[in-house]
Amino acid sequence: MISHIIDDTLLIKLQALIGSVQRIAITCHKSPDGDALGSTLALCHVLRRMGKEAVVVTPDMAPKALEFIPGVRDIVVFTRQELRAKHVLNEAQLIFCLDFNSLHRIDRLGEIIEPLKVKRVLIDHHLNPEDIFDISISHPEVSSTCELVFRVMMQMGLLRLMDRQVASCLYVGLTTDTGGFAYSCDNPEFYEILASIMRRHIDRITLYNRAMNTFSADSLRLQGYAISEKMQLFPDQGAALIVLDKTELERFNYNRGDTETLVNKPLAIPGIYWSVFMREDADKVKVSCRSQGDFSVSDICTRYFNGGGHENAAGGDFIGTIDDAVAVFYQVLSDLFPVQDKSEQTSTQEQ
Ligand code: 5GP
Ligand code: MN
Repeated sequence: MISHIIDDTLLIKLQALIGSVQRIAITCHKSPDGDALGSTLALCHVLRRMGKEAVVVTPDMAPKALEFIPGVRDIVVFTRQELRAKHVLNEAQLIFCLDFNSLHRIDRLGEIIEPLKVKRVLIDHHLNPEDIFDISISHPEVSSTCELVFRVMMQMGLLRLMDRQVASCLYVGLTTDTGGFAYSCDNPEFYEILASIMRRHIDRITLYNRAMNTFSADSLRLQGYAISEKMQLFPDQGAALIVLDKTELERFNYNRGDTETLVNKPLAIPGIYWSVFMREDADKVKVSCRSQGDFSVSDICTRYFNGGGHENAAGGDFIGTIDDAVAVFYQVLSDLFPVQDKSEQTSTQEQ
């Protein structure tokens, strides 16, 4: 039995809102991942089946590796089709905001959406959502936004609209946001949702392999290089750091998404429970963090790297040089794990 975790009064409002409009835009965070794309596209397919004119607008391109998700080609990408994206948003009578908690996570789309008079609906699982939504369906305790979209559909009695295509989209987010069912999926209801999705006869093995285990040769070589040559371990602090600069990325013909799961790899080492990956970008350093147990990398990304996320998976955009970013990492180490003065240790032991 899957419980109703979403406040039913919100869903009654949402049902009335959807019923009263025709044109709906759906957006998600920049650098969209499997959950952002899976949830927006699933919702888009469902709304279209309800007779709505629904369009997904993303701040930037989906990574090549995720182009297999049904409907990706119909997405309006702001950085590619700015005028069309503006038109869709300006004409929309309702805007869904999926898989992000604050307008700065959608770059310039935020500036466009902010002054619009239309209602905004949030469906998201990040901590601390901004208070700018007319309906806010925010549940940080769930695995993914795809899980929430499923729950919204279930509680609104719309599961009959979950065909194979919708189920495939949802499966991608459930898989990628849990690292292939490794974390954020301890609630038994997660598997009941998965069972319901499986009943739509999705091509599970193909979807899993494409979402989790498909990399170009360049990408595999880059990851091999990063682990072999660039991984630094800090056993006393349970930490790992991998840093890749522009020259290294160019050497391996870096494409978006090529280092997607790299940050997880050091967590395989016994005793390493948090991992940081830094990638030098055009005008910033992209920081990705992962952890195990109750060590919160979301706090670290919020405090030091201009970002946020979840307890065990977070990221940020660091403005500065790659050396500055590495210096901040060392600052985090010394702030969180202050080295005890030897004389202090002795005096503590003597007492
Ligand atoms: P990733 O490391 O895969 O880019 O992101 C991991 C998690 O952290 C995702 O849930 C993502 O939404 C969040 N995240 C990544 N980058 C940022 C950022 O720059 N700002 C915030 N607030 N969250 C981020
Ligand atoms: Mn997500």
